[in-house]
Amino acid sequence: MAKKEESCAVGIDLGTTYSCVAVWQEQHCRVEIIHNDQGNNTTPSFVAFTDHERLIGDAAKNQAATNPENTVFDAKRLIGRKYGDHIVQKDKILWPFKVVAGINDKPMVVVNYKGQEKQLCAEEVSSMVLVKMREIAEAFLEHPVKNAVVTVPAYFNDSQRKATIDAGAIAGLNVMRIISEPTAAAIAYGLDKRNNCVGERNIFIFDLGGGTFDVSLLTIKDKNFCVKATAGNTHLGGEDIDNRMVNYFVEEMKRKHKVDISDNPRALRRLRTACERAKRTLSFAITTNVEVDALFQGIDFYSSMSRAKFEEINLELFEECMETVKRCLTDAKIEKSSVHDVVLVGGSSRIPKVQQLLKDFFNGKDLCQSINPDEAVAYGAAVQAALLSEGIKNVPNLVLLDVTPLSLGTDIVGDIMSVVIPRNTTIPVKRTQVYETVYDNQSSVGVNVYEGERTRASDNNLLGFFTLSGFPRAPRGHPVDVTFVIDENGILFVSAEEKTTGNKNNITITNDKERLSTEEVGRMIQEANFFKVEDEKFLRKAKTKNDLDSCIYRIRKALKKDDINSLLCSKKKKDICSAINRATNLLDGTNEKDDIVVFEDCLSELESMLERLKTVNQNA
Ligand code: ADP
Ligand code: MG
Repeated sequence: MAKKEESCAVGIDLGTTYSCVAVWQEQHCRVEIIHNDQGNNTTPSFVAFTDHERLIGDAAKNQAATNPENTVFDAKRLIGRKYGDHIVQKDKILWPFKVVAGINDKPMVVVNYKGQEKQLCAEEVSSMVLVKMREIAEAFLEHPVKNAVVTVPAYFNDSQRKATIDAGAIAGLNVMRIISEPTAAAIAYGLDKRNNCVGERNIFIFDLGGGTFDVSLLTIKDKNFCVKATAGNTHLGGEDIDNRMVNYFVEEMKRKHKVDISDNPRALRRLRTACERAKRTLSFAITTNVEVDALFQGIDFYSSMSRAKFEEINLELFEECMETVKRCLTDAKIEKSSVHDVVLVGGSSRIPKVQQLLKDFFNGKDLCQSINPDEAVAYGAAVQAALLSEGIKNVPNLVLLDVTPLSLGTDIVGDIMSVVIPRNTTIPVKRTQVYETVYDNQSSVGVNVYEGERTRASDNNLLGFFTLSGFPRAPRGHPVDVTFVIDENGILFVSAEEKTTGNKNNITITNDKERLSTEEVGRMIQEANFFKVEDEKFLRKAKTKNDLDSCIYRIRKALKKDDINSLLCSKKKKDICSAINRATNLLDGTNEKDDIVVFEDCLSELESMLERLKTVNQNA
């Protein structure tokens, strides 16, 4: 039994806006995309807090308009980043929820839960989405799920990947591997075509989702995948398209109704929901209405948008996508005419104008859409999860190679970036480079570890630094070996060695300080349990209230029967009536603090009264 559970690892596409979970079904030899409790194959990556409960997924997204400040989404944009990061600062303006700087400049989302202020880091918010995805899988598989492969965007750096693993740990999941989303989509695609893949094929993956845009060039040969190049944009996706529509209608409101709704989060959120719906419609219709009743100051907003207008206001974004496409091909050193297949991934790749621009760019090539674009990533993750699981035999054995999203290196004299591992290098990888001391009798060197493409090292992202000391006296030019290792999760380890003394220093990159410590993860797991207990308490109370309500109804119904009334003595009747009154008051009461036990006691009292009434009725 334990073995079976172990072998059931799932694939989770932890999306910026929507998440999806899938599992390899050994008995059917295929991937199953698991639908949630609403019957949807993708679940909004939303978490919301109210005075009474915590909501995740559709339930959270559906109440976003009425509770914008406490409805958190886009946690993936924050994960592994600092508060001061310009992307965080830019995003913050658009979010209706509050984000503040925490310890080490870690961004913290501030929410109000049960009347109390709570601060959550991105890992915690993402862990809540992961818990939901795990529960969706567990409900479907009917047993606990422990292991998962989780996907991240191709451009995610070291700390973003580590933070995602931490989110998994808080959710009680063992993240077996982190793989990049386009790679996962490619696995899905490769499986789809495995029987007619002859020779080497160049596959271009175009993933335009809700918050991110990734393109990748992969080659497939003899069932082996190799990612040749990736490019992407951290802030380009369906949400940006929605925002442009929102801005358009905000201006229209100013013109037509002389009101400015841009400072009203609730109105903006409701308008955004209507815009997202309109956008989806415009993928198959050429015009659509946008209606929001009582949007602001009692004004019913009623407007329409044509596909042409939609394309006009978003053309800049679509063209930006094409620029990224070109850059990726240049990096891969592949002519567009050498691309065999172009694969669409991500919900926004359904937009006709996007498809048309892409098709035109590839000189009229037909685009592959055989895999549902919202599910392709989770599909591939599930295959990877099966490959890593014991006891799974039927998955075609694909060898998977991933690449580094950014160049990694160190600085040399003059603040010059010396690249040790160039971007788009296949991982796992180990590279050693020999550096030389700059001064005579230099006793130590400092190794700064950078990621990025700028020639000036300090313009790149400093991941960390360490010092290696205790060198023998020697003239300048004394060699020091510096080794960079990236493991299969894309996580970096750097070490340096001075050969004559054998002095070594393996660093734990200091940007690990942004990573959660074991204690912090432990504390967050406890907190996650706290949330779970609270959620369960809420459900238990809600269920008891429901049962109580139905019990009152049934007693009242029973009392309406004449024969019963004649059989009950007046004291009994009085007792029943006062019990019903107490119960009704309890139910009507707005005092949420009333303990669940009060409700349960009341319910059991009424239930036994109902039982007695039934017996009286039977004896009558
Ligand atoms: P991510 O993985 O980035 O969270 P998905 O790939 O699930 O996102 O895509 C979600 C985005 O796709 C949302 O912005 C959604 O509005 C958009 N989307 C979904 N269906 C359509 C459609 N039919 N036309 C246009 N956009 C769509
Ligand atoms: Mg996605």
